[in-house]
Amino acid sequence: MTQAIAFTPAFPVEPQSSQLVDQFGRYKRKLRISLTDRCNFRCDYCMPDHPEWLAKKDLLSFEELLKFCQIMVKLGIEHIRLTGGEPLMRQGIVHFIENLQHLKIHGLKRISMTSNAFYLKKYAIALKQAGLDDINISLDSIRADTFFSMTQKQIGPVLEGITAAQQAGLKIKLNCVVLADKNANEIVELTQWAYQQHLPLRFIEYMPLDQPEHWQREKVMSEDEIIQKLKPYFQIQKQQRQHDPATIYRLNEHYDLGVISTISKPFCQSCDRLRLTATGELFTCLFANTGTPLRALLQPNQEQFLLATIQQAVWYKKAGFIAHQQAPVRKISMHAIGG
Ligand code: SAM
Ligand code: SF4
Repeated sequence: MTQAIAFTPAFPVEPQSSQLVDQFGRYKRKLRISLTDRCNFRCDYCMPDHPEWLAKKDLLSFEELLKFCQIMVKLGIEHIRLTGGEPLMRQGIVHFIENLQHLKIHGLKRISMTSNAFYLKKYAIALKQAGLDDINISLDSIRADTFFSMTQKQIGPVLEGITAAQQAGLKIKLNCVVLADKNANEIVELTQWAYQQHLPLRFIEYMPLDQPEHWQREKVMSEDEIIQKLKPYFQIQKQQRQHDPATIYRLNEHYDLGVISTISKPFCQSCDRLRLTATGELFTCLFANTGTPLRALLQPNQEQFLLATIQQAVWYKKAGFIAHQQAPVRKISMHAIGG
């Protein structure tokens, strides 16, 4: 069962703030935008077996997205991450990043992307030139067979994409979702590879956000289990928890490894994130059952109403969950909400 965290609201009434803050006093600084639900991979921890793609007309246009971002930066958002689906499958993304740069004089500090890197070789230089600050790349294994069994794609173009991003000077982090029956026995191997490449790596606990009734608790490798596997090979020091969702462990006194433990050690109490789906629904939590549809309010002359709707949705964000033991009751899975 999911359990609500019992911490009390910080404010008794809605604040007259021009910022994005919820009833528990958590200010929102980070925004993740899903640019498309489409993806060329079929990671079964993320996608349904038979995904039904959104029609193009249902996706927010880049004009609508830019307008939304302008308002969110006005309300205190400092970090925007572009995700998907696979964000590099959305035509026009480079130009959109160029346009987002204009928000940096208004308070935006960072523009990031999360990608499977399959098309990155083609885009790396253009993304760097457009001003992308950093990129998180999903890499669940460096073994071709395991990689294929988890994604249904060849690993070659992904490794080429990583090299191209390194050569273009993009700041990179690797993400690996660990599944007990797939890549759990490769935790040491992947860590050693990333360590040698000087590429920061984060392991992610498997969350119940894939197709309904697919997730199983037994398939989750917890943060503690992951660290236990690494202990014989590295000298490990746990670092003080910051705002980042990952707990950082310093290996051999110089390499930082992250573990995102949404299942075994949720970090709801310090959550500063919001998410927008490709159709324009605002989700205040990755595990929320419903979002707030905003597309109609992104049309001309709706700005005041849009602002009030966003602030109200954020204000009523729930406390969070102690344990995510089951999937939210909703139709969209991880590929649609954006990870
Ligand atoms: N296609 C891009 C990629 O794979 O990096 C971006 C979208 S993907 C939905 C964003 C992140 O969510 C990836 O790092 C992916 O590994 C992670 N993810 C997807 N399904 C997950 C799940 N069920 N549990 C934990 N992480 C998941
Ligand atoms: Fe596609 Fe990323 Fe989901 Fe894999 S995790 S299916 S690459 S959206």
